[in-house]
Amino acid sequence: MIYENALELLGGTPVLRVRHVLPDPRSRLYVKMEGFNPSGSVKDRAAFHMVEEAERRGELRPGATIVESTSGNLGKALALIGAVKGYRVILVVDPKTTPSALSYAVSLGAEIDVVREPNSAGSYQEARFDRVRELLAAIPGSYRPDQCVNPDNPGAHALHTAREIIDDFPQLDALVVAVGTGGHISGTSSTLRRHFPRLHVRAVDSFGSSALGFPFAPYRVRGIGNSWVPGNLHTEFLDSLHLVDDVEALSMCRVMASEEGLLLGESGGAVLFAALAYATAHPTETVLAIAPDRGDNYLAESYDDDWLRAEGVAPEELWRTRAEALRHARAPGNPPAPITHAPAHAPAPAPTVWSLS
Ligand code: PMP
Repeated sequence: MIYENALELLGGTPVLRVRHVLPDPRSRLYVKMEGFNPSGSVKDRAAFHMVEEAERRGELRPGATIVESTSGNLGKALALIGAVKGYRVILVVDPKTTPSALSYAVSLGAEIDVVREPNSAGSYQEARFDRVRELLAAIPGSYRPDQCVNPDNPGAHALHTAREIIDDFPQLDALVVAVGTGGHISGTSSTLRRHFPRLHVRAVDSFGSSALGFPFAPYRVRGIGNSWVPGNLHTEFLDSLHLVDDVEALSMCRVMASEEGLLLGESGGAVLFAALAYATAHPTETVLAIAPDRGDNYLAESYDDDWLRAEGVAPEELWRTRAEALRHARAPGNPPAPITHAPAHAPAPAPTVWSLS
């Protein structure tokens, strides 16, 4: 297959059946591997669609500067787009961003602006947003994709990711997807619910994240979770929520690597743990999990036992075998729960109207 530029490598990501971790012959658990996108994650799709739509509306002009706050993968995607399309790209990051993500973005010509201190409320994310606003004010004609609220982020997945899934699956019972900005869960589920009316959508978040309105507590897994409720998270498309903790997510990464030969990113470990829990409870259903990126992003970190020790995580705590994975999946630390919705006419209490029942 011959392509004209690196952006044409986007999408068409492969789907793998999980056969070894879940040996029940009735089970049909699949993983869609978004790490096969050209910059290595699900964010390629959102970044590309946001940029193309901004160009179409005339908000982003040739040679302009793109400024965005990112924890890593969106920055890699924007760096790639900037290289191919000729934009200057400034990424506002914080100390949690992995060195490999930064090296990737710099190699492709992006500039990095590191926010070293959280804001007065302790949030790095808010401090990054403050810095983005400063840069936008200082650089004429600059453009901010604003991934947490830009409808073209979920739009990319409603149009493209969901279409690929429909093409691959004549029938689908459950979709298990991570929550960060809400982009890929909201976009895929909005289209897939229309196509598969009985589809169950399970959201996966980090235990400690406030993306669905829970009190914030620190967690390690990168890519998922939020310290606030993102505008692109449309919970009316979601049925249930599984809050996965760090040990469950990082252990599942190790088990998927050794049992299936699949090196998942940290959030992919969380998603696969939640999908395994779902699949063991519903053994005859067709279940699709979306793995947002690849483990290559974390080889020198959460895949490295010395790094884990230095971070205060005992590697011995992680489970490594499929038998342990199945045992934990049958009794997860935080059992999944339905997402209930307030009646449409009820006044919306802050910060969100949805709670766990
Ligand atoms: N996992 C990883 C590794 C990510 O980079 C992201 C995006 N921050 C997500 C999950 C969540 O994706 P979304 O922003 O579409 O909710």
